[in-house]
Amino acid sequence: MPCWVPPSPREARPGATLTRHGPADSVFGALTKAPSKPGRRGLLVVFLCSALFATAGASATVAPAPSLVDGSGRRPNVLLVTVDTLRADHLGAYGYRLGTSPEIDRLASEGVLFTDAITPVPTTAPALASLLTSRHADQHGVRENLAEFPGHLPTMASAFDAAGYQTAAFYGNGAIRNGFGAGFERFEPFGERWFFRDRRGAEKAIAFLDGAREPWFLWVHFMDPHGPYNSSPPGRSRAFAYPDSPALRRELQQVETNSGFGILPRYQRLDGLTRVGEYVRRYDGEILGTDAAIGQIRAALEASGQLDRTLLVVTADHGEALGEDEYFFQHGTLLHEPGVRVPLIMRHPGLPSGLRSDTPASLVDVFPTVAALAGLPAPDGSVGRNLVPSLRGAPTDGSVVRVSYTVTPTRQTAVRRGRWELRGTPHPEGPPDDFATLELFDIRASPARKLPPQAESAIRAELEPLVRAAARQVRENPSAARKMTEDEKARLRALGYID
Ligand SMILES: [Zn+2]
Repeated sequence: MPCWVPPSPREARPGATLTRHGPADSVFGALTKAPSKPGRRGLLVVFLCSALFATAGASATVAPAPSLVDGSGRRPNVLLVTVDTLRADHLGAYGYRLGTSPEIDRLASEGVLFTDAITPVPTTAPALASLLTSRHADQHGVRENLAEFPGHLPTMASAFDAAGYQTAAFYGNGAIRNGFGAGFERFEPFGERWFFRDRRGAEKAIAFLDGAREPWFLWVHFMDPHGPYNSSPPGRSRAFAYPDSPALRRELQQVETNSGFGILPRYQRLDGLTRVGEYVRRYDGEILGTDAAIGQIRAALEASGQLDRTLLVVTADHGEALGEDEYFFQHGTLLHEPGVRVPLIMRHPGLPSGLRSDTPASLVDVFPTVAALAGLPAPDGSVGRNLVPSLRGAPTDGSVVRVSYTVTPTRQTAVRRGRWELRGTPHPEGPPDDFATLELFDIRASPARKLPPQAESAIRAELEPLVRAAARQVRENPSAARKMTEDEKARLRALGYID
């Protein structure tokens, strides 16, 4: 049956509560606060193909939320901060105890935090393409790093540009250098090298903000938490006190490849270190460094009096595995929680402060939400939901279906609804919906828990058609792949993207 119908942009169903979920799956559970006991929600048996990517429907009980446009018609500035490879559960605002993120935590305490936000795809360029366009890979066509971004699609940049905003983007990851600048007046790397200390990114952002014409839209893509974890001085994380656990004491075998399970990938090797805990410490130190860079930008906004005229959005393109499922210091291959769970925080004086929303969110929801807050039309062709009702405290909608998928050879596809995720892994050479395994997870357990094959069979049966349809759809169109130069290959190898 014809199953892909781009839904028209509509108001999302109401969805937010003040409760919180537990942290994402972690082998370092001792470092996170105990989660509240999740409530069991019934599944709404609504099988509509369009619901795969956007379950939406006007609410009769929640009035359309106002935008952040002020009484004189002035639109807010918008600062979009994305941090490469940032796990939500290694931030204080998401329950981590080590003090990795004082600045992000402060933003969360002043704004709205989505407890359950995911990336649709745990690989940089496809994820950021989905963020900018509110589309999945079958629509924007970016399926790998360095793929050419389709410049004809409407993006956040083109929407803000059309509305008279001054636009700029500064980025620390060269994987998005091909065409992602569409719609931006300025689109620049932090510097000549491909990955830089995020401090450089903050300096560029601050220089732009000094004299920027309001309203402006600025996107900064930070990079330090991406491996190798060598952007911050090792001493930065010295004060972090980890529990003495076998998981952290484990020594990893060094290998000559960038991918695989149970090994230390080549691109991550640092100073002859082989112990898992040393890498986790370095990773946390990188987060602290990026957090400081975010704080520098915030301070500049405050000093210039622009902070309270600015909608600040902080999120990530994907997370990072720190040993879960025997996957160490990599991302992209698995759809497990460490890879797909991302932070999502929005701050503006016109939004509630300290609200934690359990509404299921995805990076594809950011564009329609930010557009609505800026008083702009909903983006054409969006598969995301407008989260504004959730920002205003509307109750959570448990019927929302979200899709995630990998663009690596595993070709996994998953759908999640409420507390359940059904994840399919196809046979290596077969069609994407010919699953060799189809696994059901309780994603609100901490860590996420795989259920035995016979458990929750009714839920499994309901989600199976959805995940099969999703597997076909997200891979429907040919890739926008382009031939890489030898230099590009070498640079991707250094970031662990290829072997
Ligand atoms: Zn990335």
